[in-house]
Amino acid sequence: MSAHALLGGSNAHRWLVCTPSAQLEAKFPDRSGESAKEGTFAHELADLYLSRRQGLPVNPRISRLKAGTTEYGDFYSLDMEENVEAYVDLLDAKYQQALKADKNAILLHEEKLDFSSWVPYGFGRGDAIIIADGVMEVIDFKYGATVSVAAKNNPQMRLYALGAYSTYGWLYDIDCVQMTIFQPRNGGEKSETITTKELLSWGETIKPIATQAYKGEGELSPGDHCRFCRASPRCRALKEHNLQLAADYDVDADPKLLSDKEVADVLSRIETLTAWANRVKAYAQEEAVDNGRVFPGYKLVAGRSVRRIEDAVKAEALLEEAGYKKADILKTELLTISKLEKLVGKKKLAKLLDDVIVKPPGKPALVPDRDPRPVFNSAANDFDVIPD
Ligand code: SF4
Repeated sequence: MSAHALLGGSNAHRWLVCTPSAQLEAKFPDRSGESAKEGTFAHELADLYLSRRQGLPVNPRISRLKAGTTEYGDFYSLDMEENVEAYVDLLDAKYQQALKADKNAILLHEEKLDFSSWVPYGFGRGDAIIIADGVMEVIDFKYGATVSVAAKNNPQMRLYALGAYSTYGWLYDIDCVQMTIFQPRNGGEKSETITTKELLSWGETIKPIATQAYKGEGELSPGDHCRFCRASPRCRALKEHNLQLAADYDVDADPKLLSDKEVADVLSRIETLTAWANRVKAYAQEEAVDNGRVFPGYKLVAGRSVRRIEDAVKAEALLEEAGYKKADILKTELLTISKLEKLVGKKKLAKLLDDVIVKPPGKPALVPDRDPRPVFNSAANDFDVIPD
């Protein structure tokens, strides 16, 4: 059996909406980016920390991960350590609470969850599950910082809950299921609780969709879920969706110039279009370099190259010998805040440099109405800079 199911939990938000997507994605290699690798690293570290708390012998592996001598490279930082510790502490606190209610409560981590009773050959790996009489909690550790993942109506969490229920439901009386996402770098802890009856009834509603998705049948349906679809650089439906001109153009507008409404329409598409265009570009580049694929009108050339000093010690000696002073040829400067956070840890750095870190007001930025930030008050800002 492969390590990943065709219909897994992490792509469920996609195949539940665009049923042919899973079969299409299978035609493309998984080119996980750096943030996916960082997330896998954080999960491995969390699992080891949790195992260590349970008295299992994992220390050499932890040391190798921290030293960057494993297959993951150099992702370890004190900031990550704080986030991983926060996750492990959260699990510990939840488990202790469950034990108070039921002395037979169990905490499982990195558990394979089989939800194939609802989804053909469906399975996934749950980060943590706490089961006690009455309630089961499924917990997912998300390390991503860019997109906040909601717990409400989250199909991945529900599929994992179904998988956990099908394995442990006969051992415990589970009346309700809590699904918790812990995302330390974007939103913290988020939860949804539903009854077991609601969960099972949801499972029944997705059965026919999953069967269709397994066969690769149904209509392609482009939308926000295309973002991480492996088929997206070549998907015709997405291309047509993205390049479709605004149908509701302003009939009263100047025939030569765009109206404000039309400019707003272009603005609303820029983020999606740019992300898609970059994915197409990256895909074409990788295919050309890795597989020699030729796209009509394009060729591979040597990229622009930047000069660099290969031996800094020798260069320094040569310059000094030629009469240049150390102070003129060497530069020392403080690391950026994000690099210092990696070195020192986010909380510790904030405490240490409390007096010297300032956050000046940002420049005005044009964003959609749905952005939660308050409207920029230019009058108040002008007032700030008026001298006494
Ligand atoms: S890119 Fe979007 S529309 Fe195309 S297969 Fe993937 S999810 Fe479906």
